[in-house]
Amino acid sequence: MQLTSILGFINETNLAETARDWTGLISAAYLVAGILFLLSLGGLSNQESARRGASFGMAGMLLAIVATYFNAQVDGSPLAIGMMVVGGAIGVVLAKRVEMTSMPQLVAILHSFVGLAAVLIGFSSFIGPAHALVGAERTIHNIEIYLGVLIGAVTFTGSVVAYGKLDGRLSSAALILPARHFLNLIILGLCIWLGVLFVQADTMAGGMWPLVGMTVLALAFGVHMVMAIGGADMPVVISMLNSYSGWAASAIGFMLANNLLIITGALVGSSGAILSIIMCDAMNRKFLSVIMGGFGTTSASASSGEAVDQGETVPITPEETAQLIKDSKSIVIVPGYGMAVSHAQHPIAELARRLRAAGKNFRFAIHPVAGRMPGHMNVLLAEAKVPYDIVLEMDEINEDLPEVDVVIVIGANDIVNPSALDEPDSPIAGMPVLEVWKSKNVIVSKRSMAVGYAGVQNPLFFKDNTQMLFGDAKASMDGILAALGDLPVKNGKKTAKV
Ligand code: NDP
Repeated sequence: MQLTSILGFINETNLAETARDWTGLISAAYLVAGILFLLSLGGLSNQESARRGASFGMAGMLLAIVATYFNAQVDGSPLAIGMMVVGGAIGVVLAKRVEMTSMPQLVAILHSFVGLAAVLIGFSSFIGPAHALVGAERTIHNIEIYLGVLIGAVTFTGSVVAYGKLDGRLSSAALILPARHFLNLIILGLCIWLGVLFVQADTMAGGMWPLVGMTVLALAFGVHMVMAIGGADMPVVISMLNSYSGWAASAIGFMLANNLLIITGALVGSSGAILSIIMCDAMNRKFLSVIMGGFGTTSASASSGEAVDQGETVPITPEETAQLIKDSKSIVIVPGYGMAVSHAQHPIAELARRLRAAGKNFRFAIHPVAGRMPGHMNVLLAEAKVPYDIVLEMDEINEDLPEVDVVIVIGANDIVNPSALDEPDSPIAGMPVLEVWKSKNVIVSKRSMAVGYAGVQNPLFFKDNTQMLFGDAKASMDGILAALGDLPVKNGKKTAKV
């Protein structure tokens, strides 16, 4: 059936009109959707239950959309359904096409849509229904509009800049304007002043210009705020913008008097804020310093993005690496962004299976900001069916590293950079890293001597116990697997093989 005939059918049967009186049922549906969102968050906090958590979230969202359509406040026109069908179809195509390595960019651009929606709904609410209100009701509604547009505008441009930085369209280095804190303070002062004028205005024209003025300032602040944050601090920006998008959604909920949107937005806003604090703790950063753009400022040499020669490197082949692994009892793999790029997680999972079957102490070490989004490495390893109990967080494994025979760093760079601890002027100074250089042998699998996301050279590559396994990570892992061949399993009767 064609889309137009489906829409016509819905219009004729007047399904929405019939259901407009189902207020109690809609409230119950909102309650159930809210509970499903809570269950979703609970599920997503653990790898084993993450899939279930995502299903709860999807079910909650479906229920919320259907219930909202039947809400008496909603004009359930065929146009709305048409827009949802078109938007949903674009979403499906984009989600199917996007590579795992591009997920952070997708998330950033989706956050920008929430921000833009808050701005547009704020303006339409001001031009439309808000004008019929009087007295305290009008003042409260105008404050909701002002805050919604403010948060939405910052989220919109901040997320667009974050998208540009994550997608490599903008430099990951921090752009530090002179007197940037003073600039931010002026913007804040002006926004407060415009806010007072907006709320006091009696006419639409009188309120419109402060609203437009604040929107322009907030859009500029969003750009300035994220441009000032350096590469290594981008994880905090992502979680922070996630939080802002939640508060923007919550503000939309207030403007539209939709309780579910208020609750859902607050859940996203507060969980994003908690994640930002966790990321700041993991990177030894102060939350306020990061969002004010104080950290991540790259020095001239580091921000060039070019590797600085710090001495000789020792190359190693996949065959030699395989021999070293055979001779080792304990092996640790440190995955990074390059593993995601080369899709090396599958041969690595196979390596894990064979070496564990052969009785080796084989573990993974995960840095909290490895890859390009929180939990990036855990997702990839789970996809390759690596057992969770051998995947350890940085804090759990750092102490053990001096006892480890060989650490294989696969497509990681910033997260194993000793200059974070040794060089106070480094852009990543103070960030805790995986101290792999303390192990007996380090093999680094990467394609060249190029720097990582933060644009800093890595002294690890030049250490005496480090050898460089140059080439695409997946090709290198396939080479190691081929050279390893069959290994005797622990009981000596079988061989560990694919
Ligand atoms: P890095 O970006 O520091 O390093 C990745 C390395 O992978 C590069 O040096 C690159 O070297 C190598 N590489 C790329 N492609 C391949 C390939 N096909 N095969 C082998 N190697 C490859 O990644 P890390 O994971 O170490 O660190 C993450 C960085 O990203 C941190 O600075 C973090 O702050 C930042 N970040 C993290 C986010 C998060 O939420 N986790 C979000 C945004 C930024 P070469 O080109 O020589 O191969």
